[in-house]
Amino acid sequence: MTSSEADVVIVGMGWAGSILAAELSKAGLHVIGLERGTTRDPDDELYRNAHDELRFAVRGELVQDTARETWTLRHDLAETALPIRYAGSFRPGEGVGGSGIAWGGAVWRFQPADFTFRSSTLERGGTLPDDSCAADWPVSYAELEPYYDRFERTLGVTGIAGNVRGKRQARGNPFEGERSNEYPLPPLKPSDTTAKFHEAALLLGWHPFPQPVANSSLPYTNPDGVSRGACTYCGTCAFHPCRVGAKADPLVTLLPVARRHANFELRSDARVFRVVHDGKRARGVLYHDSRGRIIEQRAALVILAAYTLGNVRLLLLSGIGRPYDPTTGRGIVGRNYSYQVMLSGSAFFEDQQFRRYMGATGVAAYIDDFMPANLNYPDLDFVGGGMIGCGARGGAPISGLVLPPGTPAWGREWKSALQFWYDRVVTVIASGQVLPYRTSFLDLDPNYKDAWGNPLLRITFDWRINERRLASYLGNRVNQALKAMQPTYIAEPRSLPAHYDVVPYQSTHNSGGAVMGGDPATSMVNRYLQAWDVPNVFVVGASAFPQSSGHGPTGTVGALAYWAADAILDRYLRTDSLLA
Ligand SMILES: Cc1cc2nc3c(=O)[nH]c(=O)nc-3n(C[C@H](O)[C@H](O)[C@H](O)COP(=O)(O)OP(=O)(O)OC[C@H]3O[C@@H](n4cnc5c(N)ncnc54)[C@H](O)[C@@H]3O)c2cc1C
Ligand code: SF4
Repeated sequence: MTSSEADVVIVGMGWAGSILAAELSKAGLHVIGLERGTTRDPDDELYRNAHDELRFAVRGELVQDTARETWTLRHDLAETALPIRYAGSFRPGEGVGGSGIAWGGAVWRFQPADFTFRSSTLERGGTLPDDSCAADWPVSYAELEPYYDRFERTLGVTGIAGNVRGKRQARGNPFEGERSNEYPLPPLKPSDTTAKFHEAALLLGWHPFPQPVANSSLPYTNPDGVSRGACTYCGTCAFHPCRVGAKADPLVTLLPVARRHANFELRSDARVFRVVHDGKRARGVLYHDSRGRIIEQRAALVILAAYTLGNVRLLLLSGIGRPYDPTTGRGIVGRNYSYQVMLSGSAFFEDQQFRRYMGATGVAAYIDDFMPANLNYPDLDFVGGGMIGCGARGGAPISGLVLPPGTPAWGREWKSALQFWYDRVVTVIASGQVLPYRTSFLDLDPNYKDAWGNPLLRITFDWRINERRLASYLGNRVNQALKAMQPTYIAEPRSLPAHYDVVPYQSTHNSGGAVMGGDPATSMVNRYLQAWDVPNVFVVGASAFPQSSGHGPTGTVGALAYWAADAILDRYLRTDSLLA
């Protein structure tokens, strides 16, 4: 079955897809958004029952259904990859709003040096591992700055700027790049745990600041005229929808804008499995609808916004771009896959309580003192860096439990320890950058298929020595912070396991595989996220990152989506060709 041609078809209605949908439908284009999962509305029962921890945090109702489509993993080229049966380590969303419904809300900008990572590392005396394919970005922080600003205004991000137009501001992040504006909203109220970390960080000579986060601290109306109420500090942000709409998600920020326009149409239960093209130009996409039919949706412009892993899989299934071959180092689709290292340690206080039952996930104090630009590489045995912080929350009754080392794992003693320690713990976390390597990549699995008969995406990935050393360095700093709090007991961060483990949750911060660059021999898309080979296809999301950063990805995903939208509207639609 074939539908009549639209101006634009967008695959995926998460953060990136919703930005493109709002911007392109505002401009009067006929836009069709296709989303593989279910439709949603902020008035749904789902939002009303948002606090159900078992349903959302444990059973993962907002997460991709791995019984129908999953990924396979192997640690190196010699292993046979096996399917990941439960979305553990990373949990991409499914359904309208994508991972943006379940996310924690932290909106980080990458630092200027992140965009020149390869050259800055070498200039500053760092040695990149021989097999690392770390690269500079084809776009600078200064070019993206207005787009970061736009994303922050749309979401109503709270925080304290550290550097507004070159002027340093007390209490903000002293290491951030220059910003054109202060955050749209003041920070959320600090919690007892973040205050404890803040105090310890100052004692150690570090520079703590409130995490920038899209949980509104006050009622807010964004530049598109969409209003949201303030956070009630209920404490169930990450993995849950927000009951009151204070956590920005695509349903309460961008989709209301797209839906104002009759030229926007959203189709849920539309699982795209191929971009139809002749090698030079795409004609549209093929998808399975909820009745099992295959529909061809024709469009003059195809935008992939199906999360990092979905974008790469769709390119491979469609035969757009040459698949990456790790043995020759040639090919582009699937290369530069990277992730993040996550660590945590906890301090236990016999005589203090922290009211952990309330507070937003986003209420957190962080430090950027150990991001790459602040490290003296010649003194270190790794390159890259990361951030360290402490959140208000973590007190979720089922999934947020931590106990002092040596506590029995079951029985009466375990139960009474839970009761006693639940509110007497402060957890400090670190998130570090992972380099891309020649043999960390994505391709199609030769053995396993999804419920519709299409090959699954195969991930070849493991921790490498550079990341182990970085993790150990950051772990030592976490320990310093815990000790400075003078607790009764400390649970130190564990070193990275022998192999990357897909079971415990780490982060949904997968990146790479369809990277942006200045050379079609090493990048899938140009600096505007336009496919080199098929210029009427744009691939938007963290799939474009040449490598990860220690910071969360979504601020940069949002900025790149606005950047691509402007490039499409201002330039591509006039020329209908590859943008220089
Ligand atoms: C629990 C959790 C907490 C997080 N917290 C943070 C945080 O605090 N800060 C931060 O920076 N990041 C965070 N993230 C990551 C953040 O959510 C993502 O970076 C962001 O949502 C990526 O946007 P996207 O549009 O690329 O992908 P998504 O938002 O995942 O949207 C992709 C959409 O495409 C759809 N799709 C996929 N394949 C197809 C197909 N074949 N056909 C049709 N539709 C398809 C999916 O169903 C999904 O709706 C978190 C993620 C999770 C899960
Ligand atoms: S803590 Fe605030 S932002 Fe988070 S879910 Fe509750 S009300 Fe929403």
